[in-house]
Amino acid sequence: MTYVFEPPKRPSVAVRGTENRFPVRRIFCVGRNYEAHAREMGKDPDRDPPFFFTKPADAVVDTPATVPYPPETENLHHEIELVVAIGKAGRNLDEANVATHLWGASVGIDLTRRDLQLAARDKGRPWDWGKAFDHSAPVAPLVPVADVPSVSSGRIWLSVNGQMRQEADLADLIWSVAEHVAILSRSMTLAPGDLVMTGTPAGVGPVVPGDRITGGIDGLAEIDVLIGDRA
Ligand code: MN
Repeated sequence: MTYVFEPPKRPSVAVRGTENRFPVRRIFCVGRNYEAHAREMGKDPDRDPPFFFTKPADAVVDTPATVPYPPETENLHHEIELVVAIGKAGRNLDEANVATHLWGASVGIDLTRRDLQLAARDKGRPWDWGKAFDHSAPVAPLVPVADVPSVSSGRIWLSVNGQMRQEADLADLIWSVAEHVAILSRSMTLAPGDLVMTGTPAGVGPVVPGDRITGGIDGLAEIDVLIGDRA
């Protein structure tokens, strides 16, 4: 068998402290998973089942990096998020088993064309154009699970040009990693290489070309992204 052209390289993420790379298969994202963020988006943070959207695997960007300001938006937003990486296939997982399917964790930014997302939301259309654009998923080097202190507590924060914009604790997640990954696995068979961006706390807001975003999760990882010129 011969491909009609050379297949694209598999997207991947750096692994902290090594030259090894984590091959990315899919990127799942959880919507509105912190109460204060649900409220700032004009929604009531009830315990409705979590909902998901996706980004293409090749939206992933190693950091530190300069990410171009994307086209077709005047309102690019930062969303700092815990990212978990799946290392073992599974479906219909029990919450108690989710941990054995995790390869590692890190911190990422769910870059969002907020104007396009809200227009789509208001019209009942898909979110893809607001969420799944090129370079929309910068991720810090992954930390293998043995070195991850916790995915259920720890300060998560993001600053723009040194000014704190988002600050919360992973304990504030409405749906914990064990809960939402178990629920996700009822709809999709999870596979090694899947990433899950687990939702953002309150304080989302716009960035413009030249802004420097830094963020992290205490004891886990830090991320550093410069917003570049318009693509
Ligand atoms: Mn998000």
